[in-house]
Amino acid sequence: MSQSVIVIGGGVVGTSCAYYLTRAGWNVTVIDRGAIGGGSSAGNCGFVCPSHVLPLTEPGMVGKGLASLFQKNSALKVKFRLDPALWSWMYHFARRCNERDMLEAARGIQPILESSLHLYQQLMKDEALDCEWHERGLFFVYRDRKEFDAYAPTDRLLDEKFHCPAERIEGDAVLEREPALKPGLAGGWYYHEDAHLRPDRLMKAWRANVEASGGTFRENCGFQGFIRKNGSASAVKTTQGELTADAFVMAAGAWTPMLAEGLGCKVPIQPGKGYSITMPRPKICPNVPMIFPETRVAVTPFDSGYRLGSTMEFAGYDETIDPSRLKILRDGAAPYLQEPEAEPVQQTWFGWRPMTYDGLPIIDRAPAINNVMIAAGHNMLGLSMATGTGKLVAEMLNGDEPLIDPKPYRSTRF
Ligand SMILES: Cc1cc2nc3c(=O)[nH]c(=O)nc-3n(C[C@H](O)[C@H](O)[C@H](O)COP(=O)(O)OP(=O)(O)OC[C@H]3O[C@@H](n4cnc5c(N)ncnc54)[C@H](O)[C@@H]3O)c2cc1C
Repeated sequence: MSQSVIVIGGGVVGTSCAYYLTRAGWNVTVIDRGAIGGGSSAGNCGFVCPSHVLPLTEPGMVGKGLASLFQKNSALKVKFRLDPALWSWMYHFARRCNERDMLEAARGIQPILESSLHLYQQLMKDEALDCEWHERGLFFVYRDRKEFDAYAPTDRLLDEKFHCPAERIEGDAVLEREPALKPGLAGGWYYHEDAHLRPDRLMKAWRANVEASGGTFRENCGFQGFIRKNGSASAVKTTQGELTADAFVMAAGAWTPMLAEGLGCKVPIQPGKGYSITMPRPKICPNVPMIFPETRVAVTPFDSGYRLGSTMEFAGYDETIDPSRLKILRDGAAPYLQEPEAEPVQQTWFGWRPMTYDGLPIIDRAPAINNVMIAAGHNMLGLSMATGTGKLVAEMLNGDEPLIDPKPYRSTRF
């Protein structure tokens, strides 16, 4: 008889774990306190971006962060409050903002991004998920000449140390790559390898695919704790009663620290709140997904729509939608695009990115309960790392040799 596993959290990470575990012969149930994909996984920007090798902890980030505290309408915002977990997180984050730690994190980020891209390509071939998958690259576009040039050392570093160069495109030549841009921009850096998809469609299609292979999804089924026997978990207590299984995967994104009692490790994850606005495609719609680093706004064209997204706010578990943050998205796209918006707005959304202070996810067994795996803390790249994570979790639970070295993601590192 096949072994059973309960995945706690039905975001993109939990759903990917469910997919690879189902394929490996496990009998899988995913439980979610709310709707599947209702956390950070449906309204995000949809980039599958192996170009994002570097973590946020770059040298100089502390200065940039402090400066933004005094700027009105900065895309980066910290709501200071008496919260020891936030202060400790900020302290450790600040300590890692140096070249050595940044490169160490990047050496852990790159393999899971690369492996995830290949696994997505395989997934689209094998399952033909209806999620508007495209491999059209990612374009970083600048208005200001100085800012455009200032990216050159980062490009060099990415090329030399990670073999991940961008194509430098000067001035109005950006219009050949992307005619929806305005003339008169300084230039852009184009990453050929990146892909994108429509995340809400992915969540729907992937769930249906797992269900068709025998997996089960239970919504409104909140995890409340493990029932333990001799160092293992035998069941979970949930809002729908007790559920037994042979193994468990904790994939609750930004909520994971609240559920981590008894796992035997620290789970320093803070919610990094971001927003998106989804609309129909404008008449002059971009073909290529883009980031405007000067305003920190991202633009994603879908076959069936168009999304502006981003901003980063450390505001705790705040569920409000602040119209001034949405305005930052609109104002941040307007200088670059001929037609930055279209009516009517179909959705305004926020999500909590599960942010660890070292920029790496936790993908490992829980030290204190040997049949519980943790798969959480994917920062700004949970979609981009989801397939690699699901595959790794399935390999570790099966006792197979993992495709990538899991050491950078160990649960005991904090
Ligand atoms: C504006 C924005 C844009 C982004 N753009 C991108 C992008 O382009 N590319 C990219 O790679 N990443 C992007 N991200 C990051 C990405 O969205 C996240 O890293 C990813 O969604 C995290 O997935 P997850 O499955 O770990 O968490 P989630 O999707 O948040 O899922 C966690 C789930 O756990 C459930 N849960 C919580 N508590 C319990 C409980 N007690 N019991 C049961 N279930 C529980 C929640 O309901 C939730 O459904 C973006 C994020 C934001 C906010």
